[in-house]
Amino acid sequence: MKTEYLQVNPENLDRRPFRKAGDLLRQGEVVAFPTETVYGLGANALNANAVKKIFLAKGRPHDNPLIVHIAEFEQLKPLVQGISEKAYVLMHRFWPGPLTLIFPKSNLVPNEVTAGLDTVAVRMPRHPVALKLIKEAGVPIAAPSANTSGLPSPTEGAHVLADLNGKIPLILDGGETEVGLESTVVDVTVEPPLILRPGGVTLEEIEDAIGQAAYDPGLSKDKNETPRSPGMKYTHYSPKADVFIVDGPDKDRAQKITAVFHRMTQEGKKVALLLSEETGREINGINGRVIPCYYEVLGSKNDLPSVAHRLFSSLRRCDYHGADIVLIEAFPEQGVGAAVMNRIRKAAGNQVIN
Ligand code: AMP
Ligand code: MG
Repeated sequence: MKTEYLQVNPENLDRRPFRKAGDLLRQGEVVAFPTETVYGLGANALNANAVKKIFLAKGRPHDNPLIVHIAEFEQLKPLVQGISEKAYVLMHRFWPGPLTLIFPKSNLVPNEVTAGLDTVAVRMPRHPVALKLIKEAGVPIAAPSANTSGLPSPTEGAHVLADLNGKIPLILDGGETEVGLESTVVDVTVEPPLILRPGGVTLEEIEDAIGQAAYDPGLSKDKNETPRSPGMKYTHYSPKADVFIVDGPDKDRAQKITAVFHRMTQEGKKVALLLSEETGREINGINGRVIPCYYEVLGSKNDLPSVAHRLFSSLRRCDYHGADIVLIEAFPEQGVGAAVMNRIRKAAGNQVIN
């Protein structure tokens, strides 16, 4: 299959690419498009055969359900059975935006979308291209991230092309995504509401809106409980290189990274470094030259949204530079840092150097 690649300018939405994309979606085809979180691979959420093509193109496990994207509040009711008070509060505070809510599903939603669960995940994204595409298609759009399953989620059109060229008919390139990490998934069918996947909207913001909420106990590193969100049990977001997290007290970071770097380099490995601005500055001052195959400052420990924005693309850049090993720093887990560390742990398969 030939993959068509069309640029769209989010500030000036020319109708032509959308007409083409809308036609494909109505015909039961898949289309990749930008959202404010990451790029999505969309299909008509009410068409089981169309939805199957998403799983095929991504190589996605069949027990991992999809998020249904809507552009207007009226599109929600037919998809669900009952909307709780807290769900209304969250929707009105955070939609359109990077928040996904879990509802009891209606019969309209095919089992292919929900992987057989009796709940459905719904989100209203805020990216102008995503909103216009959903409106143009005239149906809700089921869309997971537009990457090959297991690889870091795409935050640029070029990442989608690298993964899915020849496997899907159309990519809409609307530039880099803003948040850089996926939406926060919140289950509002339980009390207190549970965060099944940390993301662009933080626990602090959710509690400010509805009072007490909690992380799904299955998200914690001690694997006694299975995550409630099927997607969170898979290895994920990993580049081809082997990723190690460097943790421990801030004051020892630069020394530790330098020592580990030299040991791995002497073993003949090509090592990439993904660091905080603070540690990057210190490493520059350490004697005994550190020359990684790739080096990137993800941002300050005080500016976690910047770290989130760059994380997935920087993991991909480590691969482009031929890294065998990526040493990535641990970041503080406040605010969006919780989502950043969730993704870093998944990318590293929990390999930590303390
Ligand atoms: P992706 O779109 O690739 O970011 O994946 C969607 C995420 O939402 C995965 O982690 C899914 O497991 C999760 N998800 C989708 N539907 C449900 C649901 N009904 N219940 C719990 N988690 C869900
Ligand atoms: Mg994904």
